[in-house]
Parts: sequence; structure tokens; C-alpha cells
Amino acid sequence: MGTGNALPILGQAGDVSYDSWRAGVPRITSLLIKPVSAVCNLDCSYCFYLDREADPYKTLPDRRMSEETLERLVDTYLFYSYPNAVFAFQGGEPTLAGLKFFEKLVELQQRCGRNGQAVSNALQTNATLIDEGWCDLFRDYNWLLGVSLDGPEEIHDRYRFNKAGRGTWKQVIRGVEILQKHDVEFNILCVLSQANVEKPRELYRFFKSLGVDNVQYIPLSEFHPDGTPMPFTITPEQYGRFLCEIFELWWPERRKIRIRFFDNLAEALAGMKPGSCTMHETCDSYVVVEYNGDVYPCDFFVEKGWKLGNINLDSWPEIARRKRRYEFSLNKTIVHEECSRCEWLTICKRGCPKFRHAPGRNFSDLDYFCRSYKMIYAKAVGPLKKEVEKLLAREQAFAGAMQGSPY
Ligand code: SF4
Ligand code: SF4
Repeated sequence: MGTGNALPILGQAGDVSYDSWRAGVPRITSLLIKPVSAVCNLDCSYCFYLDREADPYKTLPDRRMSEETLERLVDTYLFYSYPNAVFAFQGGEPTLAGLKFFEKLVELQQRCGRNGQAVSNALQTNATLIDEGWCDLFRDYNWLLGVSLDGPEEIHDRYRFNKAGRGTWKQVIRGVEILQKHDVEFNILCVLSQANVEKPRELYRFFKSLGVDNVQYIPLSEFHPDGTPMPFTITPEQYGRFLCEIFELWWPERRKIRIRFFDNLAEALAGMKPGSCTMHETCDSYVVVEYNGDVYPCDFFVEKGWKLGNINLDSWPEIARRKRRYEFSLNKTIVHEECSRCEWLTICKRGCPKFRHAPGRNFSDLDYFCRSYKMIYAKAVGPLKKEVEKLLAREQAFAGAMQGSPY
């Protein structure tokens, strides 16, 4: 998909030289930690982590974070990130590190944190290994979980298999029911593939019937080395249509149900920094920490060439100001000709470098899902903007009334 239409770097951050960037280095505001690297107990056929050519660790045995690395990670990051520390765990399947590993983590956070420090923990899981013991930890320390579930049984089991090649839906639902029984907060991560992208209504109803009120849809876009899409990859038109239909279903229930994409859009329209990095100006809000302490700028680019350092050898300020981090962050600011004249540029921020790079291995290409964004922005921005303005006006009136209060 190399279009050759990229302009030189012109974006806001692109105007910044490395020296001036270094003078005001963007802080690392959260960590995505992989305690067992990409190791997983399942074998989903669309998983991009499994057997990835560029994975620097794929042939290594015993991929599990040691207690020493965990201790160093918690101690140094709590110091660096004061007053707010965000730890998110992902894999592979992070629960394979074992409950004791995470109990130790919480103990270290309590020991190393300072008074007044806010610490939050999140974990993305396939939910097949969850039991009562896990729920006690998650509930007692207010963890937020993301559970991977692609819809009803026949949809989910099309690609999400265990190592024996059997569907995993029943095990996931068992995990979801245990989480619900024990009042653990969770949302659903639903991968949009050829199995479900044409079924927005069915998915929406299914998650509602499960009692889930917070869903994140993740579009699948994996390509062969020659740039042709893999069979489960969805087209930009399919993703755009899906989002538009979900928006129609969601709009009457917008105060009760959360859809991550629309949340992020509303945040951008309210002038806030959206939760999703794809709507940020540059790629530098979080870093990935691998099981051995190696650090990378993004989960999609855990590759030798993008390694930023190692927490056992480097301090967080050193890692934060590495030239590679600056270079990676600027990939997002390369302006494609299409973006330079796009009415949605201030919201979309040129899309995600992963989707720019995936088909043609070129960061200068247009985001593969550009067409989808244009479809959903044309439909959703108008009504969402009015809604956001109404809410902001109400908030201001309330603040004004409070100021005027004699008390
Ligand atoms: S490449 Fe995409 S996912 Fe990675 S940090 Fe940038 S915007 Fe986020
Ligand atoms: S919608 Fe497409 S053209 Fe517009 S800013 Fe996003 S990626 Fe660029």
C-alpha cells in the first residue's frame, strides 16, 4: 500500500529537534508490563503475538519476570511517576505468572509507594484461568480487568482456540461469571474479525444480555509480508459500517453503556487528552516492559530496533530521553497528503502508526483504517459535539453557582 504521497515531517512535534525535545522530555505516564512475555495458554489463530518473526524472545525458555526485576520495576517506577502510577499487565496471558506474582506486586507497591501516591492496576486476560483467589486480589485492590471475548459462542470459537484446537467460549464465560459473582470491575475487549464485523447488532445485544456495560472493539489488521491481508483481517469499509451501526444502537443508551471509541471521541471533542494513544499527537504516552526488564515504545513494536533500554540497567529518566523514543514518537507526525487536507485531522491526529505501517511496512503510508474513521466521524462528531457542549455548559453553570454561593 505504499502510496508515496507522504510529505516531510510537518506536524507539531515534528518541528521539534531532538535537543529541544530532550529539554522537555514527555513523561512516561503508564506502563504496559508483560510478565510472561508473549507466552499464552491459548492458541488463537489470529493472534499477532504468536510466532511473530520479529519477536526478540520467541525462542527463549522460561519467559517469566523474576522477583528481582519486579521489585526494581515497582520501586523505580513509583519513584519516577509520583504522584500517579499506572501499571497495566498484558501478555500473552499475564495470569500465567501466577497469583503469587501479583500478590507480591501489590505488597511491593504498598511498601515502596509514598504517602498520597495514587497507584492503579489493570490486567488484560482471556479469563480462562480466573478463580476465586484471583477475584479476591482484583476486588480488594480495585483492579480493572479487560476480558477478551469476541461475541456469542459460534463467533468467538471461530478463531479463539486452546492448544488442543478446541473453542474457548465456555471457559471464558465461566471466568466472566466468576468475576461478576465477586464484583470485580471488568470491560470486554472484542476483536473485530471476519467472524463478527458484519454482526454489530448481534454483538451489541449479546454483551448487553451478559450484563456488560463497557466494551472496546479492536479492529484486526494483519498482513502477509507481500502486503495482502490475512483471511481474518477486516476491510476499512467493514469497520466503518460496523462503527456507524454500533453508534446508532448505542446513542439512545449512551448514558448507560460505554464504547471505548466513542468515549475517546467525546474526550477529544471536550478538549481533553483522549484515553487512546491513537488520538494523541505523538506516540510517547506509555512504554512496554518485557519480562526481563527490556523497554519498548509500543506493544506493536516489541522489536530489536526499537528497544529503549532495560530497567535493570537504566533509570526511567534515561529511558524517557532516549533518541529512539523521540524517533518513534515522531512516526505519528509524518503528514500524509490525505491528512493534510482532512477535516478530521485535529481529532484523528493521522491515525495509528501500526495501521500505517502494517500493509506496506512504511510509516509514511496512510492509516489502513482512514476510510473507517471518515465514515464514523461524519456520523458521530455532530451529535457527540452537541452533547459534549451541553454537558460542559451544565458543568460551568454548576461551577458558577457554587462560586456565587454565600457558603
Ligand atoms: S503506534 Fe499506535 S498503538 Fe502504538 S503508541 Fe502509536 S498510536 Fe499507540
Ligand atoms: S481520517 Fe484519514 S486523512 Fe483524516 S487525519 Fe485520519 S488518517 Fe488522516
